[in-house]
Amino acid sequence: MAIQQTVVEVSLKNLKNNLRFLKSKLNPNTLIMAVVKAFSYGADAFIISKELEKQKIDYLAVAYTSEGLALRKKGIMSPILVLHPQINDFNTIIEYNLEPSIYSFRILKAFMSSAKFQKNYPFQIKFNTGLNRLGFHENQIDSLIDHLNGLKPTYIFSHLGASEDENEKNFSNDQIKKFSSLAKYFQNKIGVKIKRHILNTSGILNFSEAQYEMVRTGIGLYGFGNDNKYKNALKPVINLKTVISQIHKIKKGDSVGYNKGFIATNNITTATLPIGHADGISRLYGNGNGKVMVNGKFAPIIGNVCMDMMMINISKIVCKEGDQVIIFDDKNISADEFTKSIDTISYEILASLSKRIKRVIIN
Ligand SMILES: *Cc1c(COP(=O)(O)O)cnc(C)c1O
Repeated sequence: MAIQQTVVEVSLKNLKNNLRFLKSKLNPNTLIMAVVKAFSYGADAFIISKELEKQKIDYLAVAYTSEGLALRKKGIMSPILVLHPQINDFNTIIEYNLEPSIYSFRILKAFMSSAKFQKNYPFQIKFNTGLNRLGFHENQIDSLIDHLNGLKPTYIFSHLGASEDENEKNFSNDQIKKFSSLAKYFQNKIGVKIKRHILNTSGILNFSEAQYEMVRTGIGLYGFGNDNKYKNALKPVINLKTVISQIHKIKKGDSVGYNKGFIATNNITTATLPIGHADGISRLYGNGNGKVMVNGKFAPIIGNVCMDMMMINISKIVCKEGDQVIIFDDKNISADEFTKSIDTISYEILASLSKRIKRVIIN
């Protein structure tokens, strides 16, 4: 399909493939929570959530209340965990039937004193087992149970800090052990079994023995397993493509772009692309660091990436204005590979793709 502008192509076929693969790593009755925060890692949270509902997903998760609200307003009905609510969110959370993660006494208090609070409203409790980002500490359980005043969470959960890192297996196993034991303590104290989850995508792939009753997957659904060995099994859901807007002949000694970021050492040909740092292509990709694909050949990004455009060197490539340019896709250059050139990770570029880029569903 010929494109006429910058597009994010969203492959629902690849999404289904990835869900199937992740499921194959789990016991048949383990529930799956799909993480659709940050616009579904750039894909489009509504498109992805709708497809996941078709695939009978058990739970969705977002980072912030506004993200859950947007999904509800578009008709998404699945249970939605809000990972990181803020104190003023609870009326909205309850009104829109979102499930808050309660991660501190301050948040618990805000939840319980919300005007819309009801005694059996579903919520989850987040424990900190070593990431030291959000969650109650092990030594706060007794006090937490006092404060809960008989309320029971639907789930308790925690988050691994280095599940993708082979060299940090001990750290991950320690987190899992700590979670197991605090979960047991918590259950014993309140006298009922509470369901649990701790694994993210890399956790599913590397520590599947700790799947408990549910797992959470984000990046895996979008096609990345944090390890090259999953390259064939997991397929990128997002292709980022653009087009050549204009071609210029540049004479030796002339400059290209803001602040004369590139100076031609020979006569060259450049192409201007309608995508820039406002769209998620960091300025770090400029000055030859990043490269994109034109008609099967790589072209370096030259000079400084502008807000809405960037320029590439196409001197050795046969192409014309209007031709398609691949920034990353599921065939030629993965988002992982593209981001390696500036020493970052697929998560970052996916989540920063601007909303002004059109999303197009393919297959
Ligand atoms: C973002 C997030 C996830 C998803 O992690 P992936 O590595 O993308 O699978 C899971 N749990 C929490 C708490 C998160 O913040």
